[in-house]
Amino acid sequence: MTQPAPDTQAVPLMLFNSLTRSIEPFEPVHSGEARVYSCGPTVYNYAHIGNMRAYVFADTLGRVLSFKGYRLKHIINITDVGHLTDDGDAGEDKLEKAAAAQAQSIWDIAKHYTEAFWDDVKALNIREPAQWSVATDYVPRMIEFAKSIADKHCYELPSGLYFDVSTVADYGSLARAATEAGEGRIETVEGKRNAQDFAIWRKTPEGEARQMEWDSPWGKGAPGWHLECSVMSEALLGFPFDIHTGGIDHREIHHPNEIAQNQAFACSHQSGARIWMHNNFLIDRTGKMSKSSGEFLRLPLLVSKGIHPLAYRLMCLQAHYRSELEFSWDNLLAALTRLKRLVMGVEKLKLELKASGQTIDSFPLDQLEKSIFDGAVSNDLNTPKVIAQLEAIVAGDWVVASKRLQGVKIADEILGLNLLGLTRKDLRLRPVGATIDEAEVERLLQLRKEARADKNFAASDAIRDELTAAGIEVMDGDPLGWEWRIEV
Ligand code: AMP
Ligand code: ZN
Repeated sequence: MTQPAPDTQAVPLMLFNSLTRSIEPFEPVHSGEARVYSCGPTVYNYAHIGNMRAYVFADTLGRVLSFKGYRLKHIINITDVGHLTDDGDAGEDKLEKAAAAQAQSIWDIAKHYTEAFWDDVKALNIREPAQWSVATDYVPRMIEFAKSIADKHCYELPSGLYFDVSTVADYGSLARAATEAGEGRIETVEGKRNAQDFAIWRKTPEGEARQMEWDSPWGKGAPGWHLECSVMSEALLGFPFDIHTGGIDHREIHHPNEIAQNQAFACSHQSGARIWMHNNFLIDRTGKMSKSSGEFLRLPLLVSKGIHPLAYRLMCLQAHYRSELEFSWDNLLAALTRLKRLVMGVEKLKLELKASGQTIDSFPLDQLEKSIFDGAVSNDLNTPKVIAQLEAIVAGDWVVASKRLQGVKIADEILGLNLLGLTRKDLRLRPVGATIDEAEVERLLQLRKEARADKNFAASDAIRDELTAAGIEVMDGDPLGWEWRIEV
């Protein structure tokens, strides 16, 4: 095996900017720093695995910025007010609706789903952002922001304060869908000047009580969803900041509306963030990702089927973030197999390292290890290539174990697969309900090996049957040498 060649030395980081529709060099607003804002979850329900692709992407971007040597300031918001059941202005607030349906307070609903989201974040080894900014903490600031743009850019209707999109230049230049398609999704509100105008403040209708409402110059009510991201990104990162991320659906309405507000607030054509980046969708044809479909595809569902959550992370990283990714159980199991192979390779390297009496730090870290991955990540986050390079390093024999493990460590700073920490045992997850004693399985397998060595096939078959009855599949001839697994 020959040593993978470094692509180039210290190449500039190139990122695809949805706003200019081109790949551009990353030039930070503040020298040496990268300020990133990611649209976060609306905590009225559990996140499905498609949602989690958006945070794996944002996390990978953050890891690459750190790898490139920037000090990262990453903000992810938690939407606990304002996101309507419709992207327009005629639906209900998702949290108000969930609270009414579950007969709980909005605060309890938000807390429950925020905590569930954080569990998923942790399971996917997504790094904590500098701050989780919670929308309801910023409502007074949202009111001040709205006041500052109201005269020049907004008008009042009985249902709220609306932003007039004709008052800013090039409204919607970020969006790709024909405006008609975009408009088609927005239910009309009587009196709107332009179909794309949107509410920045929604008044509580007469005679109705909302759990969440605040006093404002436009009456009691709640902020529109788009306002929160403009306000929190400005408050925490300052305009202009470097990068704004979200799923590709946000490119059509949510982000164009944020940009319009930002332009109005800053009295400038600038859009608040210099680069707008969007991850493409995880597609599921089984319909299990719809939050209304009872049991839907959440991370804990994968775990309950015995699949390690980091196999899902690897599945995401195997595709480029701007490509659609089709979900299937086969794809996921293939990613799990790939992860197992990597973990087994790393375990082997660790044994070699131990036998050699060296440590991972026995040799100074030279530029080589970093530069191997630099070209790929700098090319708009080419994680599929980083994974292939990593595999070449793990499988290669061109240099001692400690050097190869250094390569694994560096690649894993980018990929976040916990490759130095995971063991085979971690990957052999138990499906819900499995009552298996691993030590007992290993003991029986050892007895079976001895029986086979003695050519006592009756005894070895009997042990195999016993294991099968206990839900263990014995994997003779498995190319990975995985030996056994718990049947799903
Ligand atoms: P939400 O909680 O609905 O605001 O969505 C959270 C994030 O997930 C947003 O950035 C969405 O754009 C993103 N998202 C929603 N569905 C998918 C999907 N199927 N694949 C990838 N990202 C998605
Ligand atoms: Zn947002």
